[in-house]
Amino acid sequence: MNTEELKRLTVAETLRLLRAGKVTSAELVRGLLEIMESSQQDIHAFVTIDAEGALRQAAECDARRAAGEDLPLLGVPIAIKDNMNVIGQPCTASSRILEGYVAPYDATVIAKLRAAGAIFLGRTNMDEFALGSTTQTSAFGPTENPVARGCIPGGSSGGSAAAVGGGLAICALGSDTGGSIRQPASHCGIVGVKPTYGRVSRYGVVACASSLDQVGPMTKTVEDAALILNVISGRDPMDATCLDEAVPDYTQAWAGADPEKPLAGMRIGLPKEYFGEGLDPEVRARVEAAAERARALGAETVEVSLPHSGYGIPTYYICMTAELSANLARFDGVRYGLRVPCDDVIAQYGATRAEGFGAEVKRRVLLGTFVLSSGFYDAYYNRAQKVRTLIRRDLEAAFARCDLLLGPVTPEPAWPLGVYQNDPIRNYLSDVLTVAANLAGCCALSLPAGKTGEGKPVGVQLIGPNFGEMALFRAAHALECRG
Ligand code: GLN
Repeated sequence: MNTEELKRLTVAETLRLLRAGKVTSAELVRGLLEIMESSQQDIHAFVTIDAEGALRQAAECDARRAAGEDLPLLGVPIAIKDNMNVIGQPCTASSRILEGYVAPYDATVIAKLRAAGAIFLGRTNMDEFALGSTTQTSAFGPTENPVARGCIPGGSSGGSAAAVGGGLAICALGSDTGGSIRQPASHCGIVGVKPTYGRVSRYGVVACASSLDQVGPMTKTVEDAALILNVISGRDPMDATCLDEAVPDYTQAWAGADPEKPLAGMRIGLPKEYFGEGLDPEVRARVEAAAERARALGAETVEVSLPHSGYGIPTYYICMTAELSANLARFDGVRYGLRVPCDDVIAQYGATRAEGFGAEVKRRVLLGTFVLSSGFYDAYYNRAQKVRTLIRRDLEAAFARCDLLLGPVTPEPAWPLGVYQNDPIRNYLSDVLTVAANLAGCCALSLPAGKTGEGKPVGVQLIGPNFGEMALFRAAHALECRG
């Protein structure tokens, strides 16, 4: 297989080739490592590349396959965002405060992938502690968009998106607290799925905002995302918020569909607030074309309203920073990573956190501590929780009228690296179309919807009700095949 073929390789095709004995995992891993290493200088998708470990795992997988074994992902290499514990590998969440920390155990998603035979290639770059939408808050330097060169890859899972979009990895895992899978997927021209809250375990994933975080697949195709979600979903005794809900075979979502009208009988809502002012005209055109395609494939589209959409950003940034400030309290120089030794322990906490955390982390910890402080708790945190309920009810009311929602992922395509870097509010505002799914807990995905005149990828977002992944995959697969 030549380099260009390897860069385009999907999970489904990898499995076919491995099962047919046409390629070995060792060959694949060697080829990918070459591409990964040669692109580090300009793309910088990875924080750590585990060449030795990946080659060892590949040899083991090849031996198991030679012995007649088969598993859902046996011998398939995957890239992992740097906020999920993989035993024996560093796990830094792209922060200095976790530099030198080596994971002592596997996160549940990793244990599930390992049991399914996956190979862990390395750790992808991200915004520090998943705070950002550009991957520029990483303590280890930014990642560049491999498709729209010179631009941000999006974030916070920008390293995973760049790795898959640039063909450096066949597939990856990302995490999404307010859009961090969907937005970089959209900017890098790949598929990214944020599962329903409680679909996938968060155990062993560095916590950002615990009531919003979900791990999900970032892949080249809808089928690949379904194959990975099949493996990582399901109850986990180690995470009480991970629900005991049956895991269907997501690759069956499009089985038996009428080839001419695969979306017959499906009602898709177009939230009018998502097509309002501030939406880039080229993004609007691509998303409207996707809605038109959905109609041509048999779906009915209806206009719906999510009247509290305007409160999404303030609500999200209060809830998320509140939870973040509590979650990051554990980084005190005693238990993990960096320690700046001082004579007394309080001074040591302060000095360690001052040196270990970057500016965006500090900004959010301060904001979160403020909204939780006595005197301001009722005015901010409590109020935000109430508005969060209103946002969830908006979505519930919409799903009473339709099966899915369709809209843009981001208001504009990827912008050049460095622009808006010192303008946090400008960055926060770009999350306006993704945060509602996290606040309400529902599932959502980003699907490539073409490119702008300048060649920048544009994604279309599909949002489904809780545990509505089957409908999401059915629609995404139909739109992708005809795209
Ligand atoms: N861009 C959003 C933020 O900065 C989302 C982050 C995420 O989903 N982890 O908070």
